[in-house]
Amino acid sequence: MSLINETHDLALKSWVTSANTGTSDFPIQNLPFATFRRRGSNEAFRGGVAIGDQIVDLKALAASGLFRELAGEALEAASDTTLNRFMGLGQAHWSALRLALSRALRENANEQANIEPLLIAQAEAEYDLPCHIGDYTDFYTSIYHATAVGKLFRPDNPLLPNYKWVPIGYHGRSSSIGVSGQTFPRPKGQTKAPDAEAPSFGPCKRLDYELEMGIYLGKGNDLGDSIALDDTDNHVFGFCLFNDWSARDLQAWEYQPLGPFLAKNFASTVSPWVVTNEALAPYRTTWTRDANDPQPLDYLESNKNREIGSYDIIMDVAIETETMRKNGLSASVVSQSSFKHSYWTVAQMVAHHTVNGCNFKPGDMIGSGTQSGPEHEEAGSLLELSRGGKEAITLNNGEKRTFLEDGDKVIMRGWCEKAGFARIGFGHVESTILPAK
Ligand code: CA
Repeated sequence: MSLINETHDLALKSWVTSANTGTSDFPIQNLPFATFRRRGSNEAFRGGVAIGDQIVDLKALAASGLFRELAGEALEAASDTTLNRFMGLGQAHWSALRLALSRALRENANEQANIEPLLIAQAEAEYDLPCHIGDYTDFYTSIYHATAVGKLFRPDNPLLPNYKWVPIGYHGRSSSIGVSGQTFPRPKGQTKAPDAEAPSFGPCKRLDYELEMGIYLGKGNDLGDSIALDDTDNHVFGFCLFNDWSARDLQAWEYQPLGPFLAKNFASTVSPWVVTNEALAPYRTTWTRDANDPQPLDYLESNKNREIGSYDIIMDVAIETETMRKNGLSASVVSQSSFKHSYWTVAQMVAHHTVNGCNFKPGDMIGSGTQSGPEHEEAGSLLELSRGGKEAITLNNGEKRTFLEDGDKVIMRGWCEKAGFARIGFGHVESTILPAK
């Protein structure tokens, strides 16, 4: 069951030489999408594809008339100010454009003379959200995260009985999702210490990040229809890095009975680049369910999901404090994990989300939930790393953190590596906490 094709060939090199270093996140095997414009300009945002340290301007490329048929149609749609229309076209169009770009950007391609003048340096670009995110749902698919957080909030009952049967999620808020570079004031709200009589109001004291993958739906489904587990690859457009900011003290007081609310909806940040599901094909891997655990119900079970349901995407988190910035120090990496540890797969999330007839629209996003790995050092949040705020972690300049302070910038990165294939990356997502208003 291989989704691998000529665009993944390790031997491919680009005439954009910065793509061929072996360390670039954006070799010719990646070709992720974003919306961009020249920084500080009044230009309209439009689709772009990363290659090395450059961006192919898809609107300019569409105007050149170089690509025809499906690739040409896809290119025209990707010229919009958002990628929604392109994402809604579906797998055949996505693949056609990827193949045409791969061939046109290869060493010795005839198209070099036409495309070279259309490149813009990433260093001179600014980004928007890649698409209008109509709806956003956040899952909770790391059993290590769910167990660690459950222990802190409910010591006697960490993992609720539905966890191993249902891919747990809640409907999040898309209005406050911003692109990398986002800044936001520390949220305020109600908190209540366990021994206090009544809640108090004020700035959050336990502000945290969550290390997640964001998954964009491309082609949607009609209301009342569902997407079968083995059909989800026709609907999943691509992946980004996603920081789901969380106010832990607000969360602990408000989350029962209906789940997260103001603890989550003040800000969430995505990386600008969307790595396509097709680009990730080589890094897919087996998914297993421990024999001692309940096996999935039929609609969440298939051979394909067992064979290639998981994605080995390495993700890490770094914190850059105000002091580090003043002293010119680089950010301190605090943890690293992989999406392959997820208890539920992307296919299972999509199949479950639609099994009741709920409709996805192009550009809808799902969050994977905090991706903590099995080891303590692989935790995807400070809540876990600091064991509920009881043990401060030490950053590489000696500063300590239990939770985030004003001025802290959180930076997340992601990449895939596998023998016989190129290393591809997601770039990064960063955002900075401002003092409470
Ligand atoms: Ca989350």
